[in-house]
Amino acid sequence: MKKFLLILLSIMLIGCGTKTESHDESKEDINKEEESEMSETTQVVDEEKSEEIPAEILDFEDFNSIHVIINKKHELPEDYEPEDLVEPEVKKIRESCPMREEAAQALKEMFEAAAKDGLDLMLVSGYRSYSYQKGLFDNYVARDGEEAANRYSARPGQSEHQTGLAADLGTSDQACLLMGCFKDTEAGKWLAENSYLFGFVLRYPEEKEEVTGYIYEPWHFRYIGLEQAYLVHESGLTLEEYYDYMD
Ligand SMILES: [Zn+2]
Repeated sequence: MKKFLLILLSIMLIGCGTKTESHDESKEDINKEEESEMSETTQVVDEEKSEEIPAEILDFEDFNSIHVIINKKHELPEDYEPEDLVEPEVKKIRESCPMREEAAQALKEMFEAAAKDGLDLMLVSGYRSYSYQKGLFDNYVARDGEEAANRYSARPGQSEHQTGLAADLGTSDQACLLMGCFKDTEAGKWLAENSYLFGFVLRYPEEKEEVTGYIYEPWHFRYIGLEQAYLVHESGLTLEEYYDYMD
């Protein structure tokens, strides 16, 4: 696994500056100049820079940014749908489980790596439209009441799944499917340890309900790109905490 990690980290470093979305034109220009001057042999120097990507050049507000943060305080509009949804080429619980293209590709690579470790992962949920989420949430409210439902399910517009960057994962035997005990399965443990190597983070960690607004969901992973996933994973913090995006 160490060798694998090193390979992935070097891929991550090569990718520095190219996947970071920014609306600051001057910084973009600087990045472009740097990229054009970089040769393969000098890219490794980027290691320090990747540690230093300041949060202010990441775009948490643009719905199309892979770094967008959606939570109970930051919602998506009813009509938002990503433009680049594709069907991930992985095992899925139903025929259609679309995700944004970049996330779908990363998911495929993660599933392939997990398979090499003997795990049979399955995508349980990817993109969900506003109206689908509304139906889901209304059902939970009818069953458990609104307050209880909102601890484990998002109101429409507040679901990360509407970004096309979130994935609920399980295994094909459906053991502990969307249940807390998934954390103790081999797949749950593997994902918690390795998903960042593919650009995903465990979005709703244990004992962070006060921060995220949701109970521990060991099955829910969010794609934020390799560089940021590495940094967030290393920090042990939630997205809200790591980026100081609490209000
Ligand atoms: Zn989810």
